[in-house]
Amino acid sequence: MSVADEPIDPNELPPCVECGACCNFADPRYAMVLAEDSERLLPEDEPLTHWTSGRCFMRVVDDHCAALNEIEGMSWCTIYERRPQGCRDAARGGPDCLAGLKRRAQRLAMGT
Ligand code: SF4
Ligand code: SF4
Repeated sequence: MSVADEPIDPNELPPCVECGACCNFADPRYAMVLAEDSERLLPEDEPLTHWTSGRCFMRVVDDHCAALNEIEGMSWCTIYERRPQGCRDAARGGPDCLAGLKRRAQRLAMGT
């Protein structure tokens, strides 16, 4: 079994500020922005979102959410106070967290 195939232990999560894996995704329809989410966003946040098939999502840049900042091993959401409800509902240690960590492990195993 490769490292990427090993299950993620929810009791051994990295600090979120050193992780950001749940905000790393390539699917441009991954993080939906609902109408009530849009009301929280500021006009200057608009370039961080995109529309497809009549629905709004967070834009993807370099395989991560456009609102994610990653600098020198630290990562943070630049619109944390205004982030979409789906991001608010994604609990540390929950399915989205574990799926993000799994994606990261697979990417690292592939050297990408
Ligand atoms: S919630 Fe999970 S995947 Fe997201 S930053 Fe925290 S530890 Fe990483
Ligand atoms: S809006 Fe923030 S919390 Fe949501 S996916 Fe993007 S960077 Fe992560």
